[in-house]
Amino acid sequence: MNCVFCRIASGEIKTDLVHADDEIVAFRDLNPQAPTHLLVIPRRHVATTNDLSPEDAPLVGRLALVARDIARRLGFADAGYRLVLNCNADGGQSVLHVHMHLLAGRQMAWPPG
Ligand code: 5GP
Ligand code: ZN
Repeated sequence: MNCVFCRIASGEIKTDLVHADDEIVAFRDLNPQAPTHLLVIPRRHVATTNDLSPEDAPLVGRLALVARDIARRLGFADAGYRLVLNCNADGGQSVLHVHMHLLAGRQMAWPPG
């Protein structure tokens, strides 16, 4: 499997994990777009949100809850943060393994770029 996020999730690429459980890991983005920029990903390879099945609903829900828990733990839950799922070319997805961006530490703009 030549997927960088699978290799991070499996430990093949050594990365400091901000969160790890049996189905989800979180780590810092290599090219942060905010003072705090984390990626929350399922361990299992799913390429895009288009590839999620109804059985994945709890997993997708847990991505958001893990992000929320990290926001609380790192102390910016009340100040606020942004959760983003990019899909395919127009969505700006560059890594084809579903990931939730957790962005915090500055005022976010709307509309997004
Ligand atoms: P996308 O553009 O697909 O929504 O987001 C992919 C993100 O993964 C980008 O923000 C990019 O900086 C990050 N990224 C790509 N390769 C690596 C890597 O090897 N390690 C980490 N920590 N982040 C990566
Ligand atoms: Zn993968």
